[in-house]
Amino acid sequence: MPPQDKSLLPNPQSSAELLRMTIPMMREQGIPTTPQNYAVWFHYINGDMPDLKAHIDQILNDGLAFTEQLNESLYRDYLSEHNLERVDEIRREVLLTLNETSATLHDTGTDAESYGRTLEQFDESCNNADSLGDVFDLMTSVLVETRKMKASVDEIQRDFALKSAEMEQLREELEQARQMASIDALTGLVNRGSFFDTLEEQIGLIKNVEETPLCMVMFDIDHFKRVNDTFGHLVGDKVIRFVAKTLQQSIKGLDTAARYGGEEFAVLLPETATKGAVILCNRIRERISGTNLVRTGTRIPLGQITVSAGVAAYRPGEDMMELVRRADEALYRSKREGRNQVQAAA
Ligand code: GH3
Ligand code: MG
Ligand code: MG
Repeated sequence: MPPQDKSLLPNPQSSAELLRMTIPMMREQGIPTTPQNYAVWFHYINGDMPDLKAHIDQILNDGLAFTEQLNESLYRDYLSEHNLERVDEIRREVLLTLNETSATLHDTGTDAESYGRTLEQFDESCNNADSLGDVFDLMTSVLVETRKMKASVDEIQRDFALKSAEMEQLREELEQARQMASIDALTGLVNRGSFFDTLEEQIGLIKNVEETPLCMVMFDIDHFKRVNDTFGHLVGDKVIRFVAKTLQQSIKGLDTAARYGGEEFAVLLPETATKGAVILCNRIRERISGTNLVRTGTRIPLGQITVSAGVAAYRPGEDMMELVRRADEALYRSKREGRNQVQAAA
């Protein structure tokens, strides 16, 4: 191999870079990477020892082999005394490299606790190292550990990507399940639990009932048992769906229609006072009683379907269940007084 002029080498920016360049060069020459040999070649590449550099250039020029004896004599002649200044400099570079690695690991959000501990140990050992050979050994171990760590970080990242995809899917499934759990399967209206959640939320928003009144209504299909008994449960289900659809189509904006139980419905009317609520309920009631339901296929009329309703306006400071109770009470007044009507709680 022809002698290498230092000007042909990449301009080393730091000792850490020198460290990276030295080992491949030694391998090329078949020189064992012992700490002593390493120190010799480090200074050769660094070019800070002109005599050493000239000697090696000569050997390279003559095409001589770097035998064990030759390597030993190079070390003995030029470097047998510890170059403490260099050790210090390299130690600083090694520590800097370690800190950069730590920062990178921190950035990737990887915990890597054990690797962190290894680095700390290196840090400590580096401070105690008093020869270039010691630092070289430490650096070699750091490189090995870093390579291992990189492999495990890659794996962790792959694992993270997989996990976050899995978690995203789980989240979607949960959200779907949550939604399913709040929806009544027969009618598509929200169920009783969800109605209470909304009611609680709306009550929480009320600061002043004069400005933001709130009404709730309980609806119950009249003589529903008769429908079931005469036409069967499947037809009964269709009647329940028809009432639900009528409720849903009659409300707007912030209003909520829920299936409260079997053939009972609850409607929440935020920003609505009793008078408006009663008007709306009567409109709904008339829509239902005014529709002529017939059996699919045979077209046999089901007879008139009617509903009764009870309206209650929220009172300041009132417990949520007390409001529900008063709406229910008004509903039963409608039932008692002849059904197919709307009553408001006192
Ligand atoms: P009232 O006018 O006093 O309300 O009389 P009603 O016959 O409607 O009496 P009640 O409210 O006590 O009866 C409700 C009936 O509704 C009882 C039950 O068999 C029926 N029911 C409850 N849930 C369902 C359902 O999901 N589908 C069907 N087809 N029927 C139901
Ligand atoms: Mg009922
Ligand atoms: Mg009923």
